[in-house]
Amino acid sequence: MKIGLFGGTFNPIHIGHLALAENVTASLGLDMMFLIPSKIPPHKSGSGIIDPVKRLKMVELVAEGLGEKFKVSDYEIAADGVSYTLKTLKHFRRLYPDDEIFFACGTDIFASIHKWHAYEELFKYANFVVVSRSMVSFGKMLEAIPERLHDIVIREEQFAGEKSGRVILHEMPPVDVSSTDIREVLEASYRKANLPDVVYEYISEKGLYRGDE
Ligand code: ATP
Repeated sequence: MKIGLFGGTFNPIHIGHLALAENVTASLGLDMMFLIPSKIPPHKSGSGIIDPVKRLKMVELVAEGLGEKFKVSDYEIAADGVSYTLKTLKHFRRLYPDDEIFFACGTDIFASIHKWHAYEELFKYANFVVVSRSMVSFGKMLEAIPERLHDIVIREEQFAGEKSGRVILHEMPPVDVSSTDIREVLEASYRKANLPDVVYEYISEKGLYRGDE
């Protein structure tokens, strides 16, 4: 099987996240795609990050409309301590020892891969699928990462079915949206912005992102 993992703060989940999840799932022919909200992202400061249980709930509401390949994992939110990706990859490798695993992320995130906890070990457990985001081109991302990683970077059409160890560059039409922009819009004027309907309904109902949390 081909198993996709898509981790994020999802603060809140938006149409750019959906585009990535759906596009990667279709293009790589994934059998399952797990959306994995993180509890305490190691690379982000704690401020402005709302309660993990509410972020998880919004991801669940969105996943309900995505079809049966899409699953939500509370592994990081339920675990103790910081959400290290290494721990998550080891967990999914234990669940799927013989399968191809793909961890999806944007170029902005992968550009600092060498700052992640024990980053060289990550590739033992999964492939990475890196999606172009307008603020960081593939070229800029490649310049930012250690040169020795360039050997494992391939274009999607070169992928030969490895279970782990590759960094696959995945092109998709850019969806120029971020949670930061959405939080700003919500704080200023409480409009739906680029949110899925169910997420905006939940945010309105609970009065989230009003700037007073
Ligand atoms: P923030 O603005 O709060 O930093 P974000 O919008 O970047 O958040 P995250 O939850 O931090 O969202 O991102 C989770 C993952 O989704 C990352 O790998 C990120 O690169 C990717 N991602 C986020 N927005 C988009 C988008 N519009 N298009 C493609 N990938 C995206």
